[in-house]
Amino acid sequence: MALSGARTLVIGAGIIGRSTAYFLARQGVQVVLLDEGIGTGSPTSRASLGVLTHCNGGDNPYAQLFRDGHALHARLAHDLAEDVGADVGWRPRGGIELFADPAQLEEVWHFNRRRGCRVERLDERAWRAAEPALVGGGEGLYFADDHRVDPLKLGAALWAAARRQGASAAWGECVWRIAQAGEAVEVATNQGIHRADFAVLAAGAWTGGLAAQLGAQVALRPVRGQQARFAGAPLRHLVRINGRHFIPTSGETIVGSTVEEVGFRLATTRAAAAEFAAEVRSAFGRCLPLSRQQAGLRPKPRGGRPLIGPLTNAPRVFVASGHYKNGVLLGPITGQIVARWIAEGTPGRDMRCFAPER
Ligand SMILES: Cc1cc2nc3c(=O)[nH]c(=O)nc-3n(C[C@H](O)[C@H](O)[C@H](O)COP(=O)(O)OP(=O)(O)OC[C@H]3O[C@@H](n4cnc5c(N)ncnc54)[C@H](O)[C@@H]3O)c2cc1C
Repeated sequence: MALSGARTLVIGAGIIGRSTAYFLARQGVQVVLLDEGIGTGSPTSRASLGVLTHCNGGDNPYAQLFRDGHALHARLAHDLAEDVGADVGWRPRGGIELFADPAQLEEVWHFNRRRGCRVERLDERAWRAAEPALVGGGEGLYFADDHRVDPLKLGAALWAAARRQGASAAWGECVWRIAQAGEAVEVATNQGIHRADFAVLAAGAWTGGLAAQLGAQVALRPVRGQQARFAGAPLRHLVRINGRHFIPTSGETIVGSTVEEVGFRLATTRAAAAEFAAEVRSAFGRCLPLSRQQAGLRPKPRGGRPLIGPLTNAPRVFVASGHYKNGVLLGPITGQIVARWIAEGTPGRDMRCFAPER
């Protein structure tokens, strides 16, 4: 395989497609990033909270991918600031989790200690000093390795840097058909035909449908997630209460997310907005005005692990999807691996357990 100068079509301009385009362009590969949208970012990647959650010390390939993906964000934020002058909002804020049920706190504490995660106990006085805006009682946990990046800024900066290295885009093109013909991949869209040496299917929850055209079974389904933004940012850390995240960002608090099995329905609901508003009231003892609500479709793979690698019967077509709740965390490392796989012919690590057809 290989080849600097090879032409690669990346299908899907969510966080995975943009990361892949960025790292391919850095490897000297000619990239065309193709999406049916108009270039403002996919709804799912835009809806993401951007939490880079703490990881564990396990040595299986998924734990390693998670750990390396988490670490890559700090370097990438630095590189993108140098390359295109962008602040992608990467902040090592640390996370505080509060529990109504002491037995649940014990369980989470022991689970994270066992798997080598950095976690500290916080009594009520300690977390109140750290987060004076919160009301309520009980104990909490502190996770030093909970970080955050702004998904929208990250996506924009990755694409700006890829373009700077020569990548181009085909916006407003919906892929209808894809086939591998000998050494080439042919992709038909509503606008015409693209031919390339390689293609990367980074179409989020729609990836399985595209892979099926090549006779591959890539098992993915959409799981809707909603979040809402409230005016006012009284928090300093990433806070989690009863499984719900409260994320401070410039002038706002993002609250999320729901987990809903509703197929490809992307609409937001009043019920979710009311639930988030009630949770804000309960966390802060007062209401904050709702400013915006968003929804996305997380690509959930069968078997839990992301789907990354070439298709068996079409080895010039790579899948990069199935990151479910961690697509922002794992997007850059996925892009780095796929780019190396295409440009150098090797992923540089053991990727067997991420094989897309399983
Ligand atoms: C509410 C919510 C909160 C989340 N919070 C976090 C978090 O805190 N941390 C984290 O790491 N992750 C989080 N996630 C998960 C993360 O957002 C996803 O895993 C990630 O965005 C998936 O990115 P993607 O590039 O695979 O897919 P997408 O973002 O869905 O992008 C796929 C792209 O493919 C395009 N496409 C599809 N089919 C075609 C076609 N036939 N032709 C052309 N283009 C096509 C679409 O237009 C789209 O732009 C959250 C998700 C949601 C919904």
